[in-house]
Amino acid sequence: MPRPIVASIDLSALASNLTVIRGFAPGVHIWSVVKANAYGHGLQRIWSSLAGTDGFALLDLNEAVMLREQGWQGPILLLEGFFKPEDLTLIDTYRLTTAVHSDWQIDAIGRHRFSAPVDIYVKLNSGMNRLGFAAEHWPAAAAALASLEQTGHLTLMTHFAHADMPEGVAQQEAVVEKAGRDWQGPRCLANSAATLLYPQTHHQWVRPGIILYGASPSGDWNDIANTGLRPVMTLKSELIAIQDIQAGDRVGYGGRFQASGRQRIGVVACGYADGYPRHAPTGTPIVVDGVRTRTLGAISMDMLAVDLTPCPLARIGSPVELWGNQVKIDEVARSAGTLGYELMCAVAPRVPVSFG
Ligand code: PLP
Repeated sequence: MPRPIVASIDLSALASNLTVIRGFAPGVHIWSVVKANAYGHGLQRIWSSLAGTDGFALLDLNEAVMLREQGWQGPILLLEGFFKPEDLTLIDTYRLTTAVHSDWQIDAIGRHRFSAPVDIYVKLNSGMNRLGFAAEHWPAAAAALASLEQTGHLTLMTHFAHADMPEGVAQQEAVVEKAGRDWQGPRCLANSAATLLYPQTHHQWVRPGIILYGASPSGDWNDIANTGLRPVMTLKSELIAIQDIQAGDRVGYGGRFQASGRQRIGVVACGYADGYPRHAPTGTPIVVDGVRTRTLGAISMDMLAVDLTPCPLARIGSPVELWGNQVKIDEVARSAGTLGYELMCAVAPRVPVSFG
């Protein structure tokens, strides 16, 4: 028998989340952000549930090639651009749209022979200071690209550093206005948070990622609880052992939890080697036998302990939801001091994935 753990992917929730997002940005084109193996959900299996999208945005050339070879005919955007001039051959062959954020990339495009003009997202550094041309340099970069016969359509692109904070967005929008003062072409600015919160940032294209998968960009599930977005991934396991402990007994490595009285605890077949956060403290919410309870003590590599006080009927083999519909990934992430983004991407290869 395989170990009782599985990441179950709800494809209908994924498709429904795309519809919800359309409602937030009506008439705007959507890049579904599927980088990092669709935020850990398995790009190869899930992309067709998002076939109603206008394009897929990712950063790994191999993932882009896979999407094309699997039959996706629409636009594919390389969010971080290309890493080496040689990558332009694949960009041409597979008709990819690429971000351009540095002068060396403009030079490389100018030297490359394409079979057809390449569409380009000219990236503006509007304050995140990660990738992109400074506002003063952006018009010259866009003009240089526009003058090349290799260039097809150009779009102004930037990325918000803290899209859940209105002041931060306003500051970055001001930089966009400065750089794009004379820009008549399309713009693509909004990630998930901006797609939900700031319609003025939508322009022609939005780029939501995390909300496609039914988690909150702010890390607080309450922020999206009433949107209709649904969790796509459920991480499930089972109880594999039960212990009756007494007052003073300690649980797990370092004995970090100490019982104050008699108590029934359960052991779950999931640990940090499965991608459960090792930093999740005692009290992290978890569902056993359909009942919300809490973790106890340190998370081990392959197991974790839970309080069975609220679930007296729990037995060996009882189902456990680590995250999903009953306990949101945002709640677990928050308890562990991280975000749903990290947990989704960190589910380990040893965890079997089921799609339905
Ligand atoms: N656009 C870019 C350039 C990104 O790097 C990301 C993800 O980090 C996104 C869009 C999607 O962001 P989110 O998942 O917050 O919607």
